[in-house]
Formats: sequence, C-alpha cells, structure tokens
Amino acid sequence: MQTKNPLEFFRTLPPKQCPECGDQITEQAESYLMECDHCLSKREDY
Ligand SMILES: [Zn+2]
Repeated sequence: MQTKNPLEFFRTLPPKQCPECGDQITEQAESYLMECDHCLSKREDY
C-alpha cells in the first residue's frame, strides 16, 4: 500500500545517526545539528 500523504512520510523518517560515533541523534528543535550531544560537547571550539 502506498502512502500519498507527504506528512505521513516525514513522520515515519528514521532517527538521524551521528556520523562520528553512530549513536542515534534525538530529534530536537535545533534539527540542523548533525552530531549527537556527546560529540558536539567535545567540539568546544565550535
Ligand atoms: Zn556522536
């Protein structure tokens, strides 16, 4: 069965994965973040 509702598609997107450590990234309002909190915290110069 094919879902034609694009909103339904976005709701079923898999969670993002951190390219640094492979951890799942918890979806937040600041969704432009590409890495998990753990890796981001190590980048103090960012
Ligand atoms: Zn990470």
